[in-house]
Formats: sequence, structure tokens, C-alpha cells
Amino acid sequence: MDLSLDGARTQAIPACTVNGRTYSAPRRPTAVICYDGCDPAYVAAARAAGVVPHLVRMMDEGFAATALAAMPTFTNPNNVSIVCGAPPSVHGISGNYYFDAATGREIMMLDAEGMRTGTILAGLSGIGVRVAAVTAKDKLLKALAKDLDGIAFSAERADAATQEGNGIEDATRLVGRPTPAPYHPDLSLFVLDAGVKLVTEGKVDVAYLSLSDLIQHAHAPGTAEANAFMKAVDDRVGALLAAGATVGIVADHGMNDMADDAGAARVAYLADTIDAAFGAGRVRVICPITDPFVRHHGALGGFVRVHVTDPALPVADVLGTVAGTEGVGEAMTGADAAARFDLPPEREGDVVAIAAPGFALGAHRADHDLSALAGTRLRSHGGLAEQAVPFILSHPLNEAYRAKASGPLRNYDIFDFALNGVI
Ligand SMILES: [Zn+2]
Repeated sequence: MDLSLDGARTQAIPACTVNGRTYSAPRRPTAVICYDGCDPAYVAAARAAGVVPHLVRMMDEGFAATALAAMPTFTNPNNVSIVCGAPPSVHGISGNYYFDAATGREIMMLDAEGMRTGTILAGLSGIGVRVAAVTAKDKLLKALAKDLDGIAFSAERADAATQEGNGIEDATRLVGRPTPAPYHPDLSLFVLDAGVKLVTEGKVDVAYLSLSDLIQHAHAPGTAEANAFMKAVDDRVGALLAAGATVGIVADHGMNDMADDAGAARVAYLADTIDAAFGAGRVRVICPITDPFVRHHGALGGFVRVHVTDPALPVADVLGTVAGTEGVGEAMTGADAAARFDLPPEREGDVVAIAAPGFALGAHRADHDLSALAGTRLRSHGGLAEQAVPFILSHPLNEAYRAKASGPLRNYDIFDFALNGVI
């Protein structure tokens, strides 16, 4: 049918389908921020302190809700879930590390075979949308940039970016300041400043901006340091809004205090507990939060996997011991965890333990370097207590997505809502 005859022909908006969902090319520049470790309590405290006017405007005039992060509530599984629009059972990344039973080695998931599926970012670039992925941590870059024909670089290695490898030559020139020091909160602000430049200078149509949770690991909601960081992020959000962008904000996980009244970390060391019950060397306890980039949580989080390496030791016995350990909120078989949390079953342990609120889980006490905490309270994530995250959009939802938002929301719905769901 030739619609041009009636003079009402409209150009169809290009769209791509990724992991079973369709994403429209944006009508406005669109920035999605993964606000690493931004527990909803940080937003509430900053709002009460009056330091985040642009976030407040988004919440009041656009859309704001609480969504659930993917389990385990770690950075890599959730960043990958967000850019894939799908849970770990689809893309295969269910932690930073997994245990390879064949070799007995712990392997970084993103370094191994990587993701099994494509990303929304690559899908959009494939239909001609100009896309940028900017991340604080270089470790995430390979996953975010998978098959992406666009701009992709990390703040950590901004000065090393090349046109050929990253779609941009020396990204410090874009931002106008040197690569931030490693292990510094400015890594996140550098990411946002890059996003502001790319959007306001009309260089991209869609930007994914992934921050780091250095501040949240060290500072509770409402503290001077946390609010100062919230304000610094809010300033950049304001610049994106002023440029007329759709802004979507979501987090990869929340963050909770895991220390006692005296300030000491409250940790259940499950490998020590299992060794005491059954003898040493019969299991491997994997802490999938382990991350060479982040030192100050001592590789302690709210989710661990226990692999029973001695076939003579019944899994049910280990499960019983883990479940009865103080600090464990829930324990289940790996198969049950995979089914309940949409995880790839072949990368699960025999037993999965999730921390009780206010506790962290570890392997052997000797495996964890708590000196990196340097006298600060342990704040971390990984369990169900850190699953609630903000889900905020700058613009109101259309009718179809208002209906959709009345059901359960996941953090990895954010691109769907930002691209398809706003007025
Ligand atoms: Zn994180």
C-alpha cells in the first residue's frame, strides 16, 4: 500500500530485536546511567538534604520506581544484564569469578568465553544508531563493547583509547582532563562528563554510562561524602537534561552495612565452618564478588558458591551445615538457585549461600584481606538485601508502559523503558 498518496506517510522508526525484545531507535538523545551501588537509600537521603534537584525533577515529572537487580547482586552480572535486557541465564555471566571443576581453577567469567548473547548497544549500532558505551572499569569494557560499532572506552584507560579500537582517539581530549587516578571516585564523574560531551555535542544518539561504587562501599547514605557525590552526579544529570536528552537511571545493586556495633565486619567464613564440620580440603568456596579492581570490600559479599570437590561428601550434609551457620540467610542447591534467580545452572556451585541482612559471607578467614577496609565499616552487596535499586526516567511513560510498570520491574528493563516507553 502506498501511503504517500494520502499525504500522511510517516517514516517508520527503525528498531532492532535483541534477546527477544524489540528496541526502537531513540527520537531524542538517550543516556542510560548504571549508578553503581546506588541503593535507594542514597537517593532518599540526598533528596532529603536538597542536593539533587535534577534527580528530584526526574522523579516528580518523569517516572520513578524501585526495581529488582539480577541475582547475585554484583556489578558484572548486572551490567551485562542491563545491556542485554536479559537475566544471567540468557547471557551466562553470573559473577565475576567461577570455579572450573575440570582444572580446579577460579576463572574470571568475562575473560573466559564472555557473553553468550548480543547486546542492545550492538543491536542499535547495527540499525545505524550512533552508540557510546563508557565505563569506569576497564574490566567491563569488553562485555559492553561486544560487537558494538561505535564509541567504547573506560575512564581507567581513557588516554589509551584509539579510533580503531575504541571509536575515539584519546578520550581525555573529549573530557578535557587527564585519566583519573586509579581507585578514585573521579572515575565515575569522568564517565558522566564524557557522556555529557558526547550527547551535548551531538556525537551520539544513545550513551550507556556505567559508574563505579567506590563511594558507596565506603560511605553510608546521607553522609557528607555520599551526598557530595550524589550532588556531583546530579550536576551531570542536569547537563544531560538541559541538552534535551531522555535520561534513565538504574543501579546494578544496592549496598548495605555489614559491621557490628563496634565497627568490626560481621562475616560468616563458610570454608572454615565446612572444614571444621567435615575436614579440610573437601570443598571449594567461591566468592564471586572477587574483583581485582575493588579492594576495599575484601572480596566479602552477600553470595557465595560452595563446590563439593570430594565425591564422598554428600551435598545434602554440606547444605545442612551451611544453612545452619549464623550469618547465612538462605542456603539452597545450585540447581534451585539457578531456577529461582534465572542463573546459568552449569556455573552454579553445589550449594549457594545468601547472607542474612547485615552479614557478609567469605571462604577462609585467611583468604580475605580486611586491612584494605582501613578501619572503615564493611559495606558490600551480593545478596537479596541489595536487590532493590532505583529505576528513574526523565520523561513520563506512555500508556502501554504505564501498564507495564504496574508489574514487577527489573533493572535490565531500563533500555526497554527509555527507548520504547517514554512520551
Ligand atoms: Zn557494582
